[in-house]
Amino acid sequence: MHEQFKNEKCAACGMKFFDDEDIVVCPECGTPYHRECWNRVGTCIHSAEHGSYEWKGDSAELREHLENVESARINNPETSEDGFEIFHVESYDEYREIMDRKLLEQQKDFEEIDGVTAQELLKFVGKNGYYYLPVFKDIRKNNKLLKLNFASFLFFPIHCFYRRMNLFGVIMMVLLFLSTETRILLNYFADNLGLSSGDLAVAYVVTAMISLALNIFALMFFNYFYLKTAVRKIKTIKQQYPDESRERILARIEAAGKPGIFYAIAFSFCTAIAMMLVFQLINNTLGISISVLKELVN
Ligand SMILES: [Zn+2]
Ligand SMILES: [Zn+2]
Repeated sequence: MHEQFKNEKCAACGMKFFDDEDIVVCPECGTPYHRECWNRVGTCIHSAEHGSYEWKGDSAELREHLENVESARINNPETSEDGFEIFHVESYDEYREIMDRKLLEQQKDFEEIDGVTAQELLKFVGKNGYYYLPVFKDIRKNNKLLKLNFASFLFFPIHCFYRRMNLFGVIMMVLLFLSTETRILLNYFADNLGLSSGDLAVAYVVTAMISLALNIFALMFFNYFYLKTAVRKIKTIKQQYPDESRERILARIEAAGKPGIFYAIAFSFCTAIAMMLVFQLINNTLGISISVLKELVN
């Protein structure tokens, strides 16, 4: 493998390149892919930006960043005496490996969960492992289901997809839409059901509270379901590739759990559109002209 691609990842599958793998690069922008992945995807993920975009590896970007930090340090020598540890690393991955090792050292008493180790969980979680690993331990050891996750509360439901919890996120979104749909239906069939305007007002408050309750549910139970998802996916990977090296398995786990902002936004957007279409279709069939979208933003 060319030295340039050491510590870099395939743009299609997100897995680190290994020495024995065939790598091809996009002729337009230089983005590297596994040959297999390139053949499967068939087009460069940066096609839209071709002309303005040129690939720079994580390592190159980090090096630039570290160089900036370094020069800032030299220009302001007083800030270097703040007692922080300074790492001299070649790549972001190397930096992460050092941090992960420190964390695993601290979490020595972390017991395996269904045959899944702390190291594997840390790989899956990626960013913010120092938050999740102790939380997972607590959930497991002390049987504490309640470990508030404020990111999940604030960025509900996008955060679910960001952490690759697609099923959890979709279920949450379906419930969210259902509470809105209930409001629409009650409103429309108020006469048939014999509901007074007072009843309707109560129904509105109740459905609004259900939406809030879902949000609070995510705040309280996200971490628990995240642990379950991580353990399940890691186990699947280990069963699927029983003969692969430890390093490669860890790379697969990392790629499978990698949080992705673009992925999260795209996924929640598509789910929302899909559900909007489904409910609009139901409403149209029932002869209801109220727009689901309008009702949702109210
Ligand atoms: Zn690949
Ligand atoms: Zn390209």
